[in-house]
Amino acid sequence: MPKKTVEDIEVKGKKVLLRVDFNVPLKINTGAISDDSRIRASLPTVRYLVDHKAKVIICSHLGRPEGKVVENLRMAPIAERLSQLMGLPVSTASDCIGREVESKVGTLKEGDILVLENLRFHPEEEEDDAGFARKLASLADIYVNDAFGTAHRAHASTVGVAKYLPAVAGFLMNKELAVMEKLLHNPERPWVCLIGGAKVSDKIELLQNMLKKVDMLLVGGGMAATFLNTQGYEVGHSLIEGDKLGLAKKLLQEAKEWGVPFLLPIDAVVAEEIRVGAPTRVVPTSSIPAGSHIVDIGPKSIELFHGELRRCRTIMWNGPMGIYEIPQFAQGTKSIAKFLSTLNATTIIGGGSSAEVVEAMGLTDKMTHVSTGGGASLRFLEGVTLPGVKVLLDKK
Ligand code: ADP
Ligand code: MG
Repeated sequence: MPKKTVEDIEVKGKKVLLRVDFNVPLKINTGAISDDSRIRASLPTVRYLVDHKAKVIICSHLGRPEGKVVENLRMAPIAERLSQLMGLPVSTASDCIGREVESKVGTLKEGDILVLENLRFHPEEEEDDAGFARKLASLADIYVNDAFGTAHRAHASTVGVAKYLPAVAGFLMNKELAVMEKLLHNPERPWVCLIGGAKVSDKIELLQNMLKKVDMLLVGGGMAATFLNTQGYEVGHSLIEGDKLGLAKKLLQEAKEWGVPFLLPIDAVVAEEIRVGAPTRVVPTSSIPAGSHIVDIGPKSIELFHGELRRCRTIMWNGPMGIYEIPQFAQGTKSIAKFLSTLNATTIIGGGSSAEVVEAMGLTDKMTHVSTGGGASLRFLEGVTLPGVKVLLDKK
């Protein structure tokens, strides 16, 4: 069921509590913002609210302060970047609830923007505490949720506040939901899922749900080792999730029953050590040397995957093909990203690491959609109703 958006509600002169996901990556030593794409992604909604003369009260979490004030996780630098991007003044508060905030909200004029302090300085936020949610809600007349990346968490600012205010989706939330809905219910075919990442256990529900929807599954990354092992291949020192072997086998069996090709890498880059500068070799996956780890998919697998992807009209990619953090092991992941960017097909990137690679390679604009919510998009595609979405008003 589609949700009401900011466009379905009168915002003029109203105090709008806008939940965004400004949980941006920060540089470890300086605390500077290293990637502001999440701030940029919220701009259409902020711009709309300003243009339509709402009093905009923005709230977000940043990092993991675990219920305490952590100086280098304050929202001020984020508010400053927002101000630069908007070309408008943005004020801040030293808390997200309480007297100071109330008086600052009281002075807001139409089109003004106030950024509240980090929600997670209060333990009540993650506990979805009713009193805290009520205080937050009391600041505003309307609640807009644009934090797709946090919609899989039932927190005070994503679920609790919706009890007290009319709750609608922002443009980013709406776009993310529309893209994922289309994938699940109305994709252009053939449609394929390319799944990678560290572990089968992280993605088993995704694979299970996708199996019945896609025309083909391609699997790379660390999780491929577990699948290869169920096929009787030795995988050296690669991580095998012993307790998932049964499930992995069952998935492969189900894929066969559903007539869905389930492709695994046919060759791999292996190394004896997982470190920068470690010597590597390319070997067929049928003969992984005993003392080595699979660190990336090999050139033949890249070619195989490219060949399949080329035929598809819709592609969803989630999870890197190798340990891409080490440049020598990033070839598979990078060539997939590059290849997807050249295709004339619907290309959806979900998953934090995959999105990071695409962003770092400057390919974001060449994809149909790069999700801002790794965990949230994963849950959504597993078939879970996201708590932060459920509480928004349905569009009639
Ligand atoms: P995403 O965030 O895109 O959903 P995941 O979180 O599932 O992806 O997985 C990302 C991690 O998977 C990366 O840290 C990467 O190093 C790891 N990974 C990928 N391939 C391998 C491999 N062959 N062995 C070990 N780890 C791997
Ligand atoms: Mg991840």
